[in-house]
Amino acid sequence: MLKIIKNKMEQGCKTSTYPKEPIALYHRYRGMPIINQDCNNDIVKQCAAICPQDAIDTADKTIDLGRCSFCGQCETIGDGAFVHFSEDFGIGAATRSDLITGGTLPALADHSKQHFKKLFGRSLQLRQVSAGGCNSCEADTNVLTTPFFDLARFGIDFVASPRHADGIHVTGPISKNMRQALMDTYNAVPSPKVVIASGCCSISGGPFHGSDEVVGDLGSLLPVDLYIPGCPPHPLTTLHALLQYFK
Ligand code: SF4
Ligand code: SF4
Repeated sequence: MLKIIKNKMEQGCKTSTYPKEPIALYHRYRGMPIINQDCNNDIVKQCAAICPQDAIDTADKTIDLGRCSFCGQCETIGDGAFVHFSEDFGIGAATRSDLITGGTLPALADHSKQHFKKLFGRSLQLRQVSAGGCNSCEADTNVLTTPFFDLARFGIDFVASPRHADGIHVTGPISKNMRQALMDTYNAVPSPKVVIASGCCSISGGPFHGSDEVVGDLGSLLPVDLYIPGCPPHPLTTLHALLQYFK
């Protein structure tokens, strides 16, 4: 016992001070894109042509963050002339259309549903549904429960049974084999309930977009309340979105 206490005192507190204090991410992290609306059309077209996700609209000069896998090819090929990815991880959105961006996003807190804040602001229990994901979204969600992020300190946690949950957090492109299981899980959650689409797979199909084997768009099955883009979303993107939307 004394050894454990000694060890704890030596180690100190490992939990991040975020959101009380800002947190800096590694400079190669790709977050909110900064888009140059004055960019030459030829460069924009080159960026769109190389984009594996068809995420760039050349007419409006926008990027669909619900499709983008943040691979960075558009930044590389255009040498940053059209788009440069910032380290801003606050890229969650309350509507699908908000994710189609020219470089800004509406403040998520302003678009959250007030009754959800009232109901779930102090305690939010989520059931994670992995609907055919590659496991990266799932792994980076799991990280939130480790001591560094310590999601439970905000009253947010993941539970085993949908009957104990306030909503579902869905990752993956929703393979056809997982569709019924997803719907069963959703139906088992008592109302009122929230639906969170996490990762470009659940928002738009991601790299599996267009495959006959996936649904590819959670919004086509269920009313999505919160979108968390990324491939996978950084744990801080998820944490930021949950805190902005529910707290
Ligand atoms: S970073 Fe996004 S928009 Fe750019 S090429 Fe990759 S998927 Fe397309
Ligand atoms: S969004 Fe990317 S990381 Fe997440 S399940 Fe799909 S392919 Fe994997």
